[in-house]
Amino acid sequence: MTDAVDEPQESAIPTETPDKSELVRAPSLVLANTGDGKGKSTAAFGTMLRAVALEWPVAVVQFLKSGDWKTGEEKVARTLGVDWFAAGDGFTWDSADIDESAAKAKGAWALSAELITAGKHKLILLDEVSYAMTWGWIDPTEVANTIKARPDHVNLVLTGRDMASEVIDVADTATEMRSIKHAFDSGIVAKKGIDY
Ligand code: ATP
Ligand code: MG
Repeated sequence: MTDAVDEPQESAIPTETPDKSELVRAPSLVLANTGDGKGKSTAAFGTMLRAVALEWPVAVVQFLKSGDWKTGEEKVARTLGVDWFAAGDGFTWDSADIDESAAKAKGAWALSAELITAGKHKLILLDEVSYAMTWGWIDPTEVANTIKARPDHVNLVLTGRDMASEVIDVADTATEMRSIKHAFDSGIVAKKGIDY
C-alpha cells in the first residue's frame, strides 16, 4: 500500500523547454476512443466541434441507433451543418439471412467506406463502430485497409468498447477510457444533457 500517487512528483515538473524540432505535421490523423469508461463518444463530439470551428466538412456515422431516439449531439450537429447518418439510413442491404442489426451495421460500414474514400469530408466520425467488428458483422482488416488507403486530408475518429486491434494498429492516437465508477452502477438511469 502506498499513497505516493498523491505526492507531487518532482519528475513531473518540466524544467526545460521541450525540443520540438523533430516534430512533423501530419496531413490527417486517426483517433480511436475505446475502453469501458464513459467519454468515448463525448470526446469524439468535442473533436467534431473543433473541426466545425475550422469550417471543415464533417460527417458522423452512427453504427448503433435505437429507433427515433434523437440525441442532443445530433440536434446540434445538424444545426452546424454536419452530415449526420444513422445506421441503415440512405442505404439498403439486400439480405434475408442476416438479422436487421447486422444488415444495418453492414450498411453503415458500406456508407462509411464510401465517405472515407470520397474525401469530401475532412473529419469523419464513426461512432460505436467497434461493436460491428466485435460481433463479426464487418471485417476489421477491411476497416484498417480502408483507413490506410484514405485520402491524405481525411481525419477519422472511431469509437466504441473493445476496439479491434487492427484498428488500434492503424490509429495515430488511441485512448482507453477506463471506468473508475459510473452512475449506472448505482442504479442511476442515463441523464439527458449529460449522457445524451
Ligand atoms: P458517452 O456517450 O457518454 O461519451 P461512451 O461513448 O463512452 O459514453 P458508450 O459505451 O457509447 O460510452 O455508452 C453509451 C451510454 O452508456 C452513455 O449514456 C454512457 O453514459 C453510458 N455508459 C458509458 N460508460 C458506462 C459504464 N461504464 N457503465 C454504464 N454505462 C455507461
Ligand atoms: Mg459512445
